[in-house]
Amino acid sequence: MIYLDNAGTTKVDSKVLESMLPFFSDIYGNASSLHSSGQVAKEHLEEARQKIASVLNANADEIYFTSGGSESDNWAIASACKFGALKGKKHIITSAIEHHAVLHTLDEMKKQGFTITYLPVYENGIVKVEDLKNAITNDTCLVTIMFANNEIGTIQPIKEIGKVCRENNIIFHTDAVQAIGHIKIDVDDMNIDMLSLSAHKFHGPKGIGALYCRKQTPLFNLIYGGAQEKNRRAGTENLAGIVGMANALEIANEEIEKVSNHETILRDKLFNELSKIPHSKINGDKENRLPNNFNMCFEGIEGESLLLLLDDYGIQASSGSACTSGSLDPSHVLLALGLPHEVAHGSLRLTLSKYTTKEEIDKTISAVNDVVKLLRKMSPVWDELQKGERNHVI
Ligand SMILES: *Cc1c(COP(=O)(O)O)cnc(C)c1O
Repeated sequence: MIYLDNAGTTKVDSKVLESMLPFFSDIYGNASSLHSSGQVAKEHLEEARQKIASVLNANADEIYFTSGGSESDNWAIASACKFGALKGKKHIITSAIEHHAVLHTLDEMKKQGFTITYLPVYENGIVKVEDLKNAITNDTCLVTIMFANNEIGTIQPIKEIGKVCRENNIIFHTDAVQAIGHIKIDVDDMNIDMLSLSAHKFHGPKGIGALYCRKQTPLFNLIYGGAQEKNRRAGTENLAGIVGMANALEIANEEIEKVSNHETILRDKLFNELSKIPHSKINGDKENRLPNNFNMCFEGIEGESLLLLLDDYGIQASSGSACTSGSLDPSHVLLALGLPHEVAHGSLRLTLSKYTTKEEIDKTISAVNDVVKLLRKMSPVWDELQKGERNHVI
């Protein structure tokens, strides 16, 4: 099997798994208990918090453990909105290509009377800081813009966005779920007030994540109960998951340059070879994107059929977000790049990891060539394009 869906989820690093195992056997104390087993658990919990904080250049007491990226996004946005509404500020700025964990939370805020500005991302998939400046009003209480996109991998000008938010005294949240482990992040230098991360996107376990929230930024209580997470999110901590996440992040951060170079070489090979297919197009900026992200459209074919046939070759790919597959609507991200519906349907996302090999990429290039040819042979749309009854759009 050739796994090229690492933006969907990643394999747990064996060193991470090993570090988690004692927490299912010997170290099972509850970190809230006063006896020594509890205190041992507490030490591991706080050590993990410190590790995560160090990678982000944050303080340990600014890290809150959650169940993953979706929960962190929901919490950050709902909290900033609650405190915004208290001051009568009910305007939010975001981008058109956010993950659904952000977009659907914002839909809910809209029902609560907030107005949302969706910044355009243009053909390259990147917002313009000038557009952000123009969108800010006296009512703006939150800017939430993702660090790197999960479908096309484009990286947003986070430091510049953070600076504008700080100058205007607006809370800045970023969904950094895709960026963490691939890009060095310094929350102070980048003026980030809130940041979401999720372990299963950087070779950690599923179901565990964190929210960074700057000390000065208000954060409401998400779950009532015990005193965990400074009273803000009650419930006995998932210690095995937390330790796994902290170790996964530490490893990813140590390997960041090596892995990034490895992925970039293989990813660029995919781009160079598959761009030779006529009437194909790279989606999103080619340079300013995650090192492991490949996304292209091939005219005249259906992305779904492409994925199914690639699966027959043993290649696990995606047309975009795992959350959107199964629906017939083309991806909101590809539409935001200005791609017509019929082309957005023919997209392929391949996302690499440190485990991806050159042999796998060579096999993939050959398989994609075969499958695109086969599908075009069977496609009525491609037939019309060939006969000149329909115009090429790419
Ligand atoms: C995967 C992902 C999420 C959701 O994270 P979960 O831990 O699966 O809830 C949110 N945002 C982005 C950009 C993602 O890629």
